[in-house]
Amino acid sequence: MDAVTSAEGTLRVAVIGAGPAGIYVADALCAQADHPVQVDIIDRLPAPFGLLRYGVAPDHIKMKNLSSTLQRILEHESVRFFGNVNVGEDVTVPELLADYHAVVYAYGAAIDRKLGIPGEDLPGSIAATAFVNWYSGHPDFFTSYSLEATSAIVIGLGNVAIDVARVIVRDPEEMAATDVPDDVLDALRASTLTDVHIVGRRGPEHAKFTIKELREMGELAGVDVIVDPAEVDGVDSDDKDVKRNLDVFKEWAHRPQTGAKRRLHVHFHSRPAELLGTDHVEALRCERPDGSTYDIPAQLVFRSVGYIGTPMPGVPFDDSTNVIPNDEHRVIGGTVEVGEYACGWIGRGATGVIGTNRSDAKGAVTSLLADHDRLMAREVTEGSAMVHVAQRGKVPVVLAGWNAIDAAEISRGGVRGNARVKLSLWEELLTAAAAQAE
Ligand code: NAP
Repeated sequence: MDAVTSAEGTLRVAVIGAGPAGIYVADALCAQADHPVQVDIIDRLPAPFGLLRYGVAPDHIKMKNLSSTLQRILEHESVRFFGNVNVGEDVTVPELLADYHAVVYAYGAAIDRKLGIPGEDLPGSIAATAFVNWYSGHPDFFTSYSLEATSAIVIGLGNVAIDVARVIVRDPEEMAATDVPDDVLDALRASTLTDVHIVGRRGPEHAKFTIKELREMGELAGVDVIVDPAEVDGVDSDDKDVKRNLDVFKEWAHRPQTGAKRRLHVHFHSRPAELLGTDHVEALRCERPDGSTYDIPAQLVFRSVGYIGTPMPGVPFDDSTNVIPNDEHRVIGGTVEVGEYACGWIGRGATGVIGTNRSDAKGAVTSLLADHDRLMAREVTEGSAMVHVAQRGKVPVVLAGWNAIDAAEISRGGVRGNARVKLSLWEELLTAAAAQAE
């Protein structure tokens, strides 16, 4: 294998993470005409699309359709996909930097922020991140959650909290039309939940819900929404987005109840202080701003107070903000003088909607291309990284393998009468991917 220098002319970029941020980086690199590029997108999972596949709620089918746009980017002649490759284990960051002129970290923020309150680890207390991954068919989260309870609490006033609450109160027959794995659908159908409580530590003017998601919650069939008028009446804001949320809460507060099968209660100014119970969650103790407390009985508590990023071996990490430190996407304190970039949630934190990652990725590519000449001066050995992967016995899932997984999921969807049903086991995914080679 010969060392390749700038004379050869093609800018080689490895993107770690095949979620929207990473794929949009590839898109922005391919969209420019100044420099020839080769973009290799590497992901730990056999399937691409990251947060779109494993984070966006299954009933948000229109948003899920963004996958066809991302798929087209993966199919670009200058882009390759290498799934089932765990950076740090199957290939190291120094090995990637020896192969590529630039490495872009776009591997997201996968774990839950902790509440740090007594009882947080009791059985029945579940991180929303894990629950979302489960209903999204993430192969690391194949487990069984029982919803055979009467009351559940979702802590947090963000869009993930609203996703979790909506998925568990929605009529399961509506969920049958989505791509949720069969075992998830079985659990939703077996649910005996009647009351779901969304609990926020601050007031309605501080809720982080976006308006579309909030309104959707109030339109679910078979669900009454309940808000205490005393918590929302008279609360106002000059901010247009906040005002729209407040209008929805006020309308809910004065809406007559219909006697629906399920109720969704929204509680503000209720700081989670303690999860009560001995062998299992029995209630959440909430503290009011005046220091008084009250308990909400529940057998299930979903903690939805944000996602945080995790470090990657060999890459700088800021423990206080849980991101890779960067200046205009250029990694600060990396192992090479130029050549490491960060974008998406691991670069800026778990904020924004999917579309935010498109502009973020463009920003990263602007910095990367501004460094072009210095990047091309780095001596790299083309193809060396995947040799290390092979030496470690790992077989990457390439685009044809992913297409075979995709076809297997579409075929499984046909059995249930809908577009797709997810494969949620590592073995199923790898077997389906391997079938492409036969
Ligand atoms: P988020 O929007 O940051 O919301 C986190 C919530 O947790 C906030 O209400 C926050 O309250 C609360 N919280 C944090 N620490 C807490 C504590 N110790 N005790 C009680 N509450 C606490 O995060 P997210 O819901 O995980 O969403 C992540 C990102 O993904 C967001 O940008 C979101 O919009 C996006 N997303 C979008 C969609 C969509 O567009 N449909 C769907 C899902 C997610 P404070 O405000 O008081 O800190």
